[in-house]
Amino acid sequence: MTTQPSSFYFPAPRSQKFCSQCATEISYITPPDDNRLRAVCQSCGAVHYQNPRNVVGVLPIFNDKILLCRRAISPRYNKWTLPAGFMELGETTAQGAMRETQEEAGAQIELGPLYTVINVPHAEQVHFFYLAKVLSPELAPGPESLEAGFFSPETIPWDELAFRTVITTLEHYLDDKKNGVFDSPHKKPPVHHYDVPLPMHDF
Ligand SMILES: [Zn+2]
Repeated sequence: MTTQPSSFYFPAPRSQKFCSQCATEISYITPPDDNRLRAVCQSCGAVHYQNPRNVVGVLPIFNDKILLCRRAISPRYNKWTLPAGFMELGETTAQGAMRETQEEAGAQIELGPLYTVINVPHAEQVHFFYLAKVLSPELAPGPESLEAGFFSPETIPWDELAFRTVITTLEHYLDDKKNGVFDSPHKKPPVHHYDVPLPMHDF
């Protein structure tokens, strides 16, 4: 069996051309009793619903420094990000966030509370970031990262961050830190729930 190189593969567009049940070409119509266009098979009747995807990630802290990864994949190749990625089927948001941290940074963490929940409607996504404590400075970034490293608040590469949800999560963290939100170990930090403002060319 031959295997193609990884550069051969790409994520298929969400809008599909053919019915997954009978391979007839898809029509975009509003089905009876519905209120929006759907990818419908006029041959077998299958409706291919599409819904937002969850991106799950972590804001990992080690001795007041923030762990960031430099992306080795598109989009935003070479830009810095918090460890995050698409939630997989069969896992929880917390499990997905821990898995992504392991895959992208190889960091040992203790997951903390949910910290930001961000609607990104133009990207058809919802992003969830958890706070986390990094247990060891040793990192082992996987193939999705060029490198991983720790940044003090003063050295965060703001102009080189990959996504708006990463930027806004870091901004909330630094604001909360300044306001003493994390000073009491018994007080749970707030969950910041907001929308990425439009118009946007990225997220
Ligand atoms: Zn069909």
